[in-house]
Amino acid sequence: RCAKQDRTGVVRWTARTGLGRRADLRQLTELRAGIRAGHLRLHYQPLHRAGCRTLNGTEALVRWQHPQRGMLPPGVFLPDAERSDVILELTDWVLAEAIHQACAWHRAGRGMPVSVNLSAAYLAQDRAVPTILALLRLEGLPASLLTVEITETAVLARPDQAAARLAEIRAAGIRVAIDDFGTGYTSLGLLPELPIDELKIDQSFVLRMHDSKPHAVIIDSVIAIARALSLTVVAEGVEDEPTAAALADAGVDLLQGYHLGRPCPAENVHGRSWVSPGEAEQ
Ligand code: C2E
Ligand code: MG
Ligand code: MG
Ligand code: MG
Repeated sequence: RCAKQDRTGVVRWTARTGLGRRADLRQLTELRAGIRAGHLRLHYQPLHRAGCRTLNGTEALVRWQHPQRGMLPPGVFLPDAERSDVILELTDWVLAEAIHQACAWHRAGRGMPVSVNLSAAYLAQDRAVPTILALLRLEGLPASLLTVEITETAVLARPDQAAARLAEIRAAGIRVAIDDFGTGYTSLGLLPELPIDELKIDQSFVLRMHDSKPHAVIIDSVIAIARALSLTVVAEGVEDEPTAAALADAGVDLLQGYHLGRPCPAENVHGRSWVSPGEAEQ
């Protein structure tokens, strides 16, 4: 049983003390201050058409440029933020920034959809859709250039409420994607009722499609379901050319993954999105 103090002064308790929450709360307070101080960044990862491989959009992924700890990935701070109302403030910032950037690309004649991840708590707010619409109007961005990504778990917590909210989003012309599809518990029977445009096959299936027949079969099934429901199907976690080629043959519409491009700052997202290795995340 011990508490260690790291360079930043954050106290890290061993798991056995059960006091881990204390350090988390400290980080959460720091995150709230960091959001207000302008320390969040968005990196954009390209989505390419599977056939011709042209750039067809980007996904905005949040990072925390911490003054002492460097660029932190979302896994370090999002889970805590999602257990508190900090996620609402964080998401407001992400939406405003992503919509602003999408508009800059649009004005530069490179209009392409930007995807933003929305957590369940954000979607549960009555102000969620009006807030997004106000941001679109403020920047003058066509709604069709915004996609919101929602996980199955977020939908499943309150299926009826979520379906109504997603219908509201789609009625405004914004696209809706189900993220990490296959890892949650969506009953397949629910799928035809959900007002969505896109299914994103989780990377855990894609990463194993060449060494595990069951994973490959699940990918084929998701593609068949997406076809039957006229949904766009996206594969994430595409790390090499054989995987990209196999997914394109199997009928996936869009590819996302390190092979096509790593998340990087907006200025490094180019025409066909070839990012010079020094600028992208390693
Ligand atoms: P996600 O939405 O499924 O995003 C894809 C994640 O997979 C990203 O991690 C991305 O960097 C990573 N990835 C992309 N291509 C590859 C690949 O080829 N191989 C492998 N192994 N990984 C790949 P990241 O940026 O760390 O984000 C993790 C998760 O954090 C996201 O998963 C998303 O659920 C969440 N997240 C990120 N930004 C936001 C945000 O602004 N709001 C909310 N609510 N969640 C966010
Ligand atoms: Mg996502
Ligand atoms: Mg995903
Ligand atoms: Mg994922």
